[in-house]
Amino acid sequence: MQFRFWKFDDDHPGREDRDEAEAAEIVPGLWYVGSYHLCAYLLHTAEGPVLIDTCDRRVRDFFLAQIARAGVDPTSIGAVLHTHGHADHAGNTAEVVRLSGAKAMIGAGDVPWLAGQTEVARALCPGETVTFGETAVEFFAAAGHTLGCGMYVTTLGQDRLCFMGDSCGPFIFEAVRWSGDAEAFRASAERMKAVEADIFLPGHPDQIFEVSPEGDPRLSREQWHRYIDQRLYALEQIISGAGRPR
Ligand SMILES: [Zn+2]
Repeated sequence: MQFRFWKFDDDHPGREDRDEAEAAEIVPGLWYVGSYHLCAYLLHTAEGPVLIDTCDRRVRDFFLAQIARAGVDPTSIGAVLHTHGHADHAGNTAEVVRLSGAKAMIGAGDVPWLAGQTEVARALCPGETVTFGETAVEFFAAAGHTLGCGMYVTTLGQDRLCFMGDSCGPFIFEAVRWSGDAEAFRASAERMKAVEADIFLPGHPDQIFEVSPEGDPRLSREQWHRYIDQRLYALEQIISGAGRPR
């Protein structure tokens, strides 16, 4: 697999500033359609393409072009699954829904984040499963970063995938503008370790470098557990005032 996230993109000068990245099929049937700073994924299902998150509004044109680079007409999107409601992950949902009539879905606790932007077709409860043909996607609630944030777990071919979103942070801005709940995150983190998956996919490319220096977006379960422990440590540092880790 050639695709990887770049911390410093020497091969493509300016790509970080332009917030651009490759579109690539990172697992058969799953495309990376996000930007340099923001992850978004496109999952092929028997009921049409399904997006996981929609990036920030300021990269709208690039994001729609990424979908096209994945060989998909943006007007054919069937559903948008949101890991949570922050604007950098849901910024283009209204546009995708307008173009395609896609059904927007999000954890029930994060519905207010989309209010006034787009209609929520389905508010997901913890453990709820959404099916697209033979593809079953489970919503794994992981309150902390936001009240209704969570992860999606599904099987694609031989691979069990987990889209982790921002369930483990980042916490950099929360240090001054914490919109989450630290106690809820601690409880979620313990449960997150029990998620049975082979590949864990981040919500921001830079989330993975502390456990995957080579930039491979597909974290193993062992890397995932290490990542959770490091995020718990980072949160304690923030709360204790000892520092502002990324
Ligand atoms: Zn977020």
